[in-house]
Amino acid sequence: MRCLWLLPWPRNVDCAQRVFLVRRGVAERMTWIKIKETVRGAANAAIVFSQRLRRSGWASASAYAHYVLVNAWLRLRNRLTRRPRVECPCCGWRGYEFRTIDCGTFTVPSAECPHCRAHERHRMLHIYLLRACPVFMRLSGVALHFAPEQQVGVLIARNPDLKCLHTDYALDMIRPHRGTAFQCDMQHLALADNAVHAIFCLHVLEHVPDDRRGIAEMRRVLHPDGAAYIMVPFMMDWAKTVEFGRPDPEIYDHYRGYSPLDFEERLAPFSYERIDPKDFLEPEEIRRYRIPPSQVVFRCVK
Ligand SMILES: [Zn+2]
Repeated sequence: MRCLWLLPWPRNVDCAQRVFLVRRGVAERMTWIKIKETVRGAANAAIVFSQRLRRSGWASASAYAHYVLVNAWLRLRNRLTRRPRVECPCCGWRGYEFRTIDCGTFTVPSAECPHCRAHERHRMLHIYLLRACPVFMRLSGVALHFAPEQQVGVLIARNPDLKCLHTDYALDMIRPHRGTAFQCDMQHLALADNAVHAIFCLHVLEHVPDDRRGIAEMRRVLHPDGAAYIMVPFMMDWAKTVEFGRPDPEIYDHYRGYSPLDFEERLAPFSYERIDPKDFLEPEEIRRYRIPPSQVVFRCVK
C-alpha cells in the first residue's frame, strides 16, 4: 500500500482526489488491522482449546469451541441485522442476540450484552429496582456491594442518597474502587451491627465456604430499615442443593450448586420476598430482555 502520509503529492492530484486516496488508504489499513486481529484471535483460541482439552477433557474443550464459534457468528449477525430482536435495559443496546458465555463444561446462550457486558442477573436487577421496587429509591445511607461489578455500581449510583462501599475477599476485585473499598471475608464482616442500609450480593454466596455464616453476617450488619438484594445461580433441574466440599475449578470455583427448590431455607434468618421475572414483566419483555426464570431476586429485610 502506498504510504499516503509520507510521500509528497504529485502536482496533478487535486483536493478531491487526495481526500478519496486518503479515505481508501485508511480503509485498507483498517481492513489489514482487522485481518491481523482475526488471525491472532484464532491462534489464541486454538491454544486455549488445546490447554482445556489437556487439562479438563473434551467436555470443557468442546464448550470453549462452541463459545468461540457461536460468538463469532453472533458478532457478524449483530452487525448485519436490521430488525433487532433483543434489547439490553442497562445500556439500551439492541441487536439480533446477546453473546453466549463460557461456564467451564457448558455454555449459557443469550447471556451477555456485547456493549455493556451486562448478564441476565444485571438485566433482571436493573428492571426490578427501577420499575418494581420504589423502596430502593427511598433508601439512604451506606450500601454494601459484594464482589463489585460495574453494571451493579451504575445501578446503585441511580440513588444519590446511597454511599457505596465495595468489598471482596480478593484484592484484585476491589482495586479499581480505591477509597471506597475494603478487603473482607463475608463470613467475618468488619462492620458494626446495623451499619449498612442496602446490601447487593449477586452470585457471591456460591463462592463462600460457609454461606449460612455469610447470610447471618449480612443480617447482622443490615440496618432495620434497610434491604439486602440477593441473587444466586440456580441449577434449575437439581432437586436439592449439592455441596462440592471444595471450590470446583470447572464452574468458576463454586463451593456448591444451588437448587431453586431448597435455597430459600438458607434465607430463614431474614424476612424475605421472592421476585421472579414473570411477577412484573410481560412475556414479550422477558423474550426481548432475555431474562430466564432462573433469575430470581430475593429482597431480604430484618
Ligand atoms: Zn448492555
